[in-house]
Formats: sequence, C-alpha cells, structure tokens
Amino acid sequence: MTLTHMREWLMAKTTSIGKTKHSPQRMCIGCRTMKDRKELIRVVKTKDGGIFLDESGNGQGRGAYLCCDLDCMKRVEKTRGLDRTFKMTVPIEVYEALRNEMEEIACKTK
Ligand SMILES: [Zn+2]
Repeated sequence: MTLTHMREWLMAKTTSIGKTKHSPQRMCIGCRTMKDRKELIRVVKTKDGGIFLDESGNGQGRGAYLCCDLDCMKRVEKTRGLDRTFKMTVPIEVYEALRNEMEEIACKTK
C-alpha cells in the first residue's frame, strides 16, 4: 500500500463514520457536492500518467470523482480541477477527451 492509497483509505474511513450503513460518499470535483459513490464517475490517473474515465470504478491509480453531468465536467475544465486533484498540469486535450467521453456516457444514461 502506497502512502497515497493509505491517505485515501483513511479519508474514506473518516468520512464514513456516523453513516456506516450507507455507501461511501465522494465529492464531485465539479460542483463539490457529496454524493453516493455509485452516482459518480471516477476519473483515474494511472502510474504512467494516463488520465481517463474509469467506468468500472476499479482502475488502478489515483481517482477523482465527478457527477455524470456535462455541466460538472465543463466546470472542472474551466477551473482546471484535475490539476489540483492530481497535483500536475493536466493538458487541455485531456480535459477535452474526458468531456467527449462524458458526453457519450451521459447520453447512454439518459
Ligand atoms: Zn457535480
């Protein structure tokens, strides 16, 4: 277990205190609303620096969560929210690719 994983694990543990019966809550990095993890889309950054939507939610790497909502994606793009989450400069092309992917997924669910 890496330090990052450890920190995430601890954070997940802390936030679940008091509502043990519920699914884990995660914050959307677009609108900053706490939601059930199942309602959010995970964006994952792999060890080799690739960033993509993780539809299964089981991808290895550091994760960020987003509502399945294009408005949230656009907000993240505007504020460069992923740069902060992943502590790196995320190329604008990556944001665009994620938005396109999100567009497809959002269409599927509606
Ligand atoms: Zn959101």
